[in-house]
Amino acid sequence: MSTVTQLSYEEAVARFEPVIGLETHVELGTNTKMFCGCPTAFGAEPNTQVCPVCLGLPGALPVANRAAIEATIRIGLALNCSIAPWGRFARKNYFYPDMPKNFQISQYDEPLCIDGYLDIDVEGSPVRIGIERVHLEEDTGKTLHVGGATGRIHGATESLVDYNRAGIPLVEIVTKPVPGTGARAPEVARAYVTELRDVIRSLGVSDVRMEQGSLRCDVNTSLNRPGADWGTRTETKNVNSLRSVERAVRSEIIRQSGVLESGGTITQETRHFHEDTGETTSGRSKETATDYRYFPEPDLVPLAPSAEWVESLRSELPELPRVRRARQQAEWGFSDLDMQSVVNAGAVELISATVTAGATPAAARKWWLGELARKANETETELESLGVTPAAVAELQGLVDSGKINDKLARQVLEAVIAGEGTPTEIVAARGLEVVSDEGALTAAVDEAIAANPDIAAKVRDGKVAAAGALVGAVMKSTGGKADAKTVRELIIARLTS
Ligand SMILES: [Zn+2]
Repeated sequence: MSTVTQLSYEEAVARFEPVIGLETHVELGTNTKMFCGCPTAFGAEPNTQVCPVCLGLPGALPVANRAAIEATIRIGLALNCSIAPWGRFARKNYFYPDMPKNFQISQYDEPLCIDGYLDIDVEGSPVRIGIERVHLEEDTGKTLHVGGATGRIHGATESLVDYNRAGIPLVEIVTKPVPGTGARAPEVARAYVTELRDVIRSLGVSDVRMEQGSLRCDVNTSLNRPGADWGTRTETKNVNSLRSVERAVRSEIIRQSGVLESGGTITQETRHFHEDTGETTSGRSKETATDYRYFPEPDLVPLAPSAEWVESLRSELPELPRVRRARQQAEWGFSDLDMQSVVNAGAVELISATVTAGATPAAARKWWLGELARKANETETELESLGVTPAAVAELQGLVDSGKINDKLARQVLEAVIAGEGTPTEIVAARGLEVVSDEGALTAAVDEAIAANPDIAAKVRDGKVAAAGALVGAVMKSTGGKADAKTVRELIIARLTS
């Protein structure tokens, strides 16, 4: 095998232009499945939410779920798509153990929503991402490979299938190819998925949780030399966090640039992203549409949403996140830069909920972008996954504002909230972290500090009030940070100047 040149990311994007594309699957939050009445709750005992239809038993007939169609149209409208007045479901034929019917009901050449766009903001500048199509299909079951080290089929001794997920309505949102993003391609991909997630969440049609798989993303990447035709693309499957979306694009750009720079060619294939290494490895070679032998689904009537229905759904669309953000920025009094950092941190919803729970916008921003962002970064998780609720942050700030704890203690309390020790109030009580502002209790500590630092005490007596700071520090130290600094200062001044 020939040696492959390894380019740095900077070298790669200086020599090649990336084109990205994203295919996102969203599991709808309907109460029942797409073509049967089975419940859709996440985390139930395997194979307890199944029936003849979603198990593909002979003679069972599907009936389309109206709520799922409605949700798909709403997603299409929010993405500025045209809604097809008529279309048919299609059979996508393939054999896979988690597909008991040996075909998936999907949409092929007649998708429900076409030709839209989503405007996103990347580092403060707007980027328009074209939407090719939004279509509705059913999810597959879930295969669990047992006995191998990685949970993949390689090395496994047996495989188990859970059909609870089979037949849950799944919306696929496919972008048009996105050229021209250059070095920012990874950030654009992440910003798109983030915005899409927020749009879908605002519609209330899915909980869009990447860690539970209700939002799943496949990332297409290709490279071409400036001025040349677009290159061959690879499809990186099931990238399971926003951070991984960005990393997957970046690592594919680096890998492909190395292959191309060495005179090699890119194979059109599916690749797997590995969270641990941040790299992709080759999966199966990509099927083409003809492999699936699509044909119109004969067991379902065509889908023909009336113009009145579509218009009434359009009129009921909520305020979408980008518009809402502009309004919130004005309400919160954040500068463009402040708001941009909030958006980059993916903290808009969290801050909004924290403000609703009673904190000031500035305090909410301080916690989520300060201590909590640092913690998320350290542990390589998303802010939402830290186990801290907006209500807990508002409660924490309330404790600071009321003088019960100071900023230093608040950080300790927050650590304990992250560790799952309870609510801020419970933790303050359990750990005895409350600030001591009772003068009686503090006087002894103040006297000790004065006695231990006679030189400083003399300066304060001589009118150098600024020197009192060192004495305040000594008291804070001896009380383990629990003294109320303002009261301590007043007590010291009173002791030494009266
Ligand atoms: Zn069923």
